[in-house]
Amino acid sequence: MTLDDLLKVRAELEAGIRQLIGRAIMIIELDLFALPCGCSGYTATVRGLMLDDLEVFEDHLLKLLTTTSIDIPSGFVFARVIPGTQEIAALNVRNLCPRCYSDFATASGKRPRPDIYILQLVKRKR
Ligand SMILES: [Zn+2]
Repeated sequence: MTLDDLLKVRAELEAGIRQLIGRAIMIIELDLFALPCGCSGYTATVRGLMLDDLEVFEDHLLKLLTTTSIDIPSGFVFARVIPGTQEIAALNVRNLCPRCYSDFATASGKRPRPDIYILQLVKRKR
């Protein structure tokens, strides 16, 4: 994956989400990340996307987010919600490290915390 590829993924993802939602949603930043705990993945910081949009278009959004050319296992896909609002701050595709996996695997429902909306959490075999 080159930087040009990353730019392309940002543009394609933004175009895909706009087409899906039918409004001018922006991805103002697309970041790859690696955390000290071992988690890695990417974050799309968005503007204009609302909680309602997620609820209505969840399956399609999930497909867009997990079929980019960024090659990461998409075990955990979630949206970061700005607490107390309907606004989505970011979409996150994360390959969980074992410790974070066990933290999230025990959580129940789509909203284990007020700032998180889970689109997908693939359970692992024990
Ligand atoms: Zn972790």
